Amino acid sequence: MTSRIVGVPKETAPHERRVALVPDEVQRLVKNGLQVVVAAGAGNGAYFSDADYEAAGARIAPSNEAVVEAADILPAVHPLEMPLLDRLNEGAVLLHMWRSEQTLDADAYLERAARRQASVYALDHIPRTTRAQFLDVLSSQATVAGYKAVLVGAEQSPHLFPMLTTAAGTIRPARVLVIGAGVAGLQAIATARRLGAQVFAYDIRRAAQADAESVGARFLASPVIAEGEGGYARALTDDEKQQVHQFLKGHVAQMDVIITTAQVPGRPAPRIVTEDMIEAMKPGSVIVDMAADSGGNCAFSEPGRTVVHGGVIIVGPVNLPSSAPIAASRLFSKNIFNFLDLMKAADEALAAPADDEILEATCILYRGKPVKEYSHA
Ligand code: NAD
Repeated sequence: MTSRIVGVPKETAPHERRVALVPDEVQRLVKNGLQVVVAAGAGNGAYFSDADYEAAGARIAPSNEAVVEAADILPAVHPLEMPLLDRLNEGAVLLHMWRSEQTLDADAYLERAARRQASVYALDHIPRTTRAQFLDVLSSQATVAGYKAVLVGAEQSPHLFPMLTTAAGTIRPARVLVIGAGVAGLQAIATARRLGAQVFAYDIRRAAQADAESVGARFLASPVIAEGEGGYARALTDDEKQQVHQFLKGHVAQMDVIITTAQVPGRPAPRIVTEDMIEAMKPGSVIVDMAADSGGNCAFSEPGRTVVHGGVIIVGPVNLPSSAPIAASRLFSKNIFNFLDLMKAADEALAAPADDEILEATCILYRGKPVKEYSHA
C-alpha cells in the first residue's frame, strides 16, 4: 500500500476550538507509516502550534483547501465546509461527527461527497458497546461537557458548593441535582461531589441508580422506568410525564443548582423541568441545561444564553467540550487514532463497512454510495 495521507483541517464552526488530531497522535500515525498534513493554525484554539505538529512529523499546509487536496483521509470534528467537498481526492475518507452540525444540508453534503466517490463515517453513530468504547467520541466529549457544566453552575451560583465551618459560623453544602445519569451526568455528579456539594441524581433507566450512587449521588428513585433499545431511555407517555412531574416538583424546589443532561436518541431532548417547577424554586437557584441546543430539558432555556426567570438563573451552554479544548481535543484525537486503527485492521483499503459492526454502524456513504438511511436528528 502506498503511504496514505491524513489531512487535518482547521475547524471553521463558530467558536469551535477543538482540533481532530493532536500532535501525540500525529506522531503515532507517522510512526505507523502514514503521512500527515495539517492546516496552518488548526491547533491554535487548543494551544497546539504549527511547530508542535511539525515536530511530530506533520507537514503544514497553508489552508483547508490545500489539506483537502492533499489528503486521502480527513478526520475532523464537524463536517467539512461544503465547497471543500468538490476538492476531495477521488475515494477520500471523511470521519467526523454528523448530528453536531444542525445547519448542515445533509442530502447536499452526501451528494457532493458522492461525486468524488468519497466515504463518510459519522463518528457519533458509533454503537454504545463495550468494544466500541475506545473510539466513542460521544462519550469522550460528554465527559468533558459534564465536568464543565458543573463549573458553569458553580460559577453562576450565589452559594458555595462545600460545607464550610468557619469562626463566623457554618455554611451548609449546596444541594445539586443532576437529571440524566448517562455519561455526562455521571461526570457532573462526580465533579459536584469533588467540589463538596450534596448531590442528588434522577434518571428513568434502571441501571442509572447504581451508576449514580457509585459516584456519590443520592438517587431519587423515579416512579417511572422507561428503557428503550440499546440501553438508552425512551420517550415518556403523557401519563408518565405527569407522574414524573408530581414526583420531581418537590425535589426541584429544594435544589440550589440543577444540571440537566437528558437525551432520548433520535428525538428532541425531553422537557423535564417545567415552568411551574422553576417558579417554585428559590431565587438565586441555577439551572444548567446541557440539552439547551437539542430541544431543552428546561423551560425558558435558550442555547448560548443565560435567562433569569423569577430570580432563577437558567444557563443554556452550547458546545461545552470546546470550552476545555486541550482535554477535549486530546480525547477526540485518541478516538480518531483508534478508529483509523480499526479501519486499517478491517481492510487495507481503509473503508469496508461490512467487515466490522462499528464501521457498518458509522458508515453513511461508502465510495460514493449511500449505505443506509442516515440520522440527522
Ligand atoms: P444520553 O445522552 O442518550 O442521555 C443522557 C441520560 O438522560 C441517560 O442516562 C438517559 O437515561 C437520561 N434520560 C433520558 N430521558 C430522561 C427523562 N425523561 N428523565 C430523566 N432522565 C432521562 O445517554 P448516554 O450518556 O449516551 O448514555 C446512555 C446509556 O449508554 C448509558 O447506559 C451509558 O452507560 C451507556 N453507554 C455505553 C457506552 C459503551 O458501552 N460504549 C458508551 C456510552 C454510553
